[in-house]
Amino acid sequence: MIMIVDKSILKQRLEDFKAAAKKAGIKITHQRLEIFRLIANSVNHPGADEIFRKIRRRMPTISLDTVYRTLWMLSDLGLLKSVGQSKETIRFDANLHQHHHFTCIRCGLIRDFTNPELDAMSVPPEAKQYGSTLSFQVEIKGVCEDCLKKQPKTKTAKQTKSK
Ligand SMILES: [Zn+2]
Ligand SMILES: [Zn+2]
Repeated sequence: MIMIVDKSILKQRLEDFKAAAKKAGIKITHQRLEIFRLIANSVNHPGADEIFRKIRRRMPTISLDTVYRTLWMLSDLGLLKSVGQSKETIRFDANLHQHHHFTCIRCGLIRDFTNPELDAMSVPPEAKQYGSTLSFQVEIKGVCEDCLKKQPKTKTAKQTKSK
Protein backbone atom coordinates (compact mmCIF):
# COMPACT_ATOMS: atom_id res chain seq x y z
CA MET A 1 0.00 0.00 0.00
CA ILE A 2 1.88 3.01 -1.28
CA MET A 3 0.26 6.29 -0.53
CA ILE A 4 1.78 9.61 -1.36
CA VAL A 5 0.50 13.12 -1.37
CA ASP A 6 -0.30 14.44 -4.81
CA LYS A 7 2.34 16.93 -6.03
CA SER A 8 -0.22 19.65 -6.70
CA ILE A 9 -1.64 19.26 -3.18
CA LEU A 10 1.83 19.54 -1.65
CA LYS A 11 2.49 22.65 -3.74
CA GLN A 12 -0.78 24.21 -2.59
CA ARG A 13 -0.03 23.44 1.06
CA LEU A 14 3.42 25.01 0.79
CA GLU A 15 1.93 28.09 -0.82
CA ASP A 16 -0.65 28.33 1.96
CA PHE A 17 2.16 28.05 4.48
CA LYS A 18 4.12 30.86 2.89
CA ALA A 19 1.05 33.08 2.67
CA ALA A 20 0.00 32.42 6.28
CA ALA A 21 3.52 33.02 7.60
CA LYS A 22 3.81 36.25 5.66
CA LYS A 23 0.44 37.45 6.91
CA ALA A 24 1.35 36.66 10.53
CA GLY A 25 4.81 38.21 10.16
CA ILE A 26 6.56 34.93 10.88
CA LYS A 27 9.92 34.25 9.31
CA ILE A 28 10.08 31.17 7.12
CA THR A 29 13.26 29.57 8.35
CA HIS A 30 14.73 26.47 6.75
CA GLN A 31 13.76 24.44 9.83
CA ARG A 32 10.16 25.59 9.81
CA LEU A 33 9.81 24.96 6.11
CA GLU A 34 11.29 21.46 6.38
CA ILE A 35 9.07 20.51 9.32
CA PHE A 36 5.97 21.70 7.55
CA ARG A 37 6.98 20.04 4.29
CA LEU A 38 7.43 16.73 6.08
CA ILE A 39 3.86 16.80 7.39
CA ALA A 40 2.36 18.33 4.27
CA ASN A 41 3.93 15.55 2.22
CA SER A 42 2.77 12.72 4.48
CA VAL A 43 -0.48 10.81 4.48
CA ASN A 44 0.42 9.22 7.78
CA HIS A 45 -0.47 11.96 10.30
CA PRO A 46 2.97 11.85 11.92
CA GLY A 47 3.54 12.50 15.61
CA ALA A 48 6.16 14.82 17.07
CA ASP A 49 8.64 12.01 17.77
CA GLU A 50 8.45 10.69 14.23
CA ILE A 51 8.87 14.19 12.81
CA PHE A 52 11.84 14.78 15.09
CA ARG A 53 13.54 11.52 14.06
CA LYS A 54 13.11 12.25 10.36
CA ILE A 55 14.08 15.90 10.48
CA ARG A 56 17.17 15.14 12.57
CA ARG A 57 18.62 13.05 9.74
CA ARG A 58 18.80 16.18 7.65
CA MET A 59 19.36 18.69 10.47
CA PRO A 60 21.39 16.99 13.20
CA THR A 61 21.42 20.06 15.43
CA ILE A 62 17.64 20.46 15.73
CA SER A 63 16.10 19.80 19.17
CA LEU A 64 12.81 18.11 20.03
CA ASP A 65 11.82 21.33 21.74
CA THR A 66 12.22 23.28 18.50
CA VAL A 67 10.13 20.68 16.69
CA TYR A 68 7.37 21.02 19.29
CA ARG A 69 7.41 24.82 19.20
CA THR A 70 7.25 24.78 15.41
CA LEU A 71 4.35 22.32 15.43
CA TRP A 72 2.29 24.46 17.80
CA MET A 73 3.15 27.56 15.80
CA LEU A 74 1.94 25.87 12.61
CA SER A 75 -1.23 24.78 14.42
CA ASP A 76 -1.81 28.32 15.64
CA LEU A 77 -1.45 29.54 12.06
CA GLY A 78 -4.23 27.13 11.12
CA LEU A 79 -1.96 25.12 8.84
CA LEU A 80 -2.13 21.90 10.81
CA LYS A 81 -4.78 20.14 12.77
CA SER A 82 -3.92 17.96 15.69
CA VAL A 83 -5.31 14.45 15.90
CA GLY A 84 -5.72 12.60 19.18
CA GLN A 85 -6.10 13.72 22.74
CA SER A 86 -3.09 13.40 24.96
CA LYS A 87 0.06 15.40 24.41
CA GLU A 88 2.22 12.29 24.11
CA THR A 89 0.18 10.66 21.38
CA ILE A 90 -0.83 13.74 19.43
CA ARG A 91 -0.40 13.59 15.67
CA PHE A 92 -0.45 16.25 12.99
CA ASP A 93 -2.60 16.56 9.88
CA ALA A 94 -2.03 18.99 7.02
CA ASN A 95 -5.29 18.04 5.34
CA LEU A 96 -7.59 20.92 6.27
CA HIS A 97 -10.49 19.82 4.09
CA GLN A 98 -13.46 18.00 5.54
CA HIS A 99 -12.45 14.36 5.89
CA HIS A 100 -12.65 11.35 8.15
CA HIS A 101 -10.14 8.89 9.53
CA PHE A 102 -9.49 5.18 9.46
CA THR A 103 -7.31 4.33 12.46
CA CYS A 104 -5.52 1.02 12.95
CA ILE A 105 -5.67 -0.05 16.59
CA ARG A 106 -2.51 -2.16 16.21
CA CYS A 107 0.07 0.07 14.53
CA GLY A 108 -1.54 3.49 14.86
CA LEU A 109 -1.86 4.06 11.11
CA ILE A 110 -4.25 6.89 10.31
CA ARG A 111 -5.59 7.37 6.78
CA ASP A 112 -7.93 10.00 5.38
CA PHE A 113 -11.11 9.28 3.54
CA THR A 114 -14.00 11.38 2.35
CA ASN A 115 -17.65 10.42 2.16
CA PRO A 116 -20.47 12.77 1.10
CA GLU A 117 -23.04 10.99 3.27
CA LEU A 118 -20.98 11.45 6.41
CA ASP A 119 -20.29 15.07 5.46
CA ALA A 120 -24.01 15.70 5.11
CA MET A 121 -24.68 14.62 8.69
CA SER A 122 -25.22 17.35 11.20
CA VAL A 123 -23.96 17.50 14.75
CA PRO A 124 -26.53 15.77 16.98
CA PRO A 125 -28.12 17.71 19.84
CA GLU A 126 -26.68 15.16 22.27
CA ALA A 127 -23.24 16.53 21.40
CA LYS A 128 -24.29 20.16 21.30
CA GLN A 129 -25.43 20.03 24.93
CA TYR A 130 -21.76 20.11 25.97
CA GLY A 131 -20.96 23.37 24.25
CA SER A 132 -20.32 24.90 20.87
CA THR A 133 -19.13 22.56 18.14
CA LEU A 134 -16.40 23.24 15.60
CA SER A 135 -16.21 20.26 13.31
CA PHE A 136 -17.63 16.85 12.66
CA GLN A 137 -15.18 14.05 12.01
CA VAL A 138 -15.75 10.34 12.06
CA GLU A 139 -13.06 7.94 13.22
CA ILE A 140 -13.36 4.36 12.05
CA LYS A 141 -11.23 2.01 14.11
CA GLY A 142 -9.99 -1.23 12.71
CA VAL A 143 -6.96 -3.29 11.74
CA CYS A 144 -5.08 -2.18 8.63
CA GLU A 145 -4.13 -4.46 5.75
CA ASP A 146 -0.50 -4.68 6.79
CA CYS A 147 -1.44 -5.69 10.32
CA LEU A 148 -3.98 -8.22 9.03
CA LYS A 149 -1.15 -9.88 7.07
CA LYS A 150 0.90 -10.12 10.23
CA GLN A 151 -2.07 -11.63 12.07
CA PRO A 152 -0.73 -15.20 12.61
CA LYS A 153 2.17 -13.97 14.69
CA THR A 154 1.11 -13.16 18.20
CA LYS A 155 3.15 -10.02 18.54
CA THR A 156 1.64 -7.06 20.29
CA ALA A 157 1.06 -3.72 18.64
CA LYS A 158 3.70 -1.79 20.46
CA GLN A 159 6.73 -3.09 18.65
CA THR A 160 9.60 -0.65 18.57
CA LYS A 161 10.40 0.37 15.06
CA SER A 162 13.95 1.49 14.55
CA LYS A 163 13.79 2.21 10.86
ZN1 LIG B 1 -1.95 -1.46 11.30
ZN1 LIG C 1 -6.50 13.39 8.32
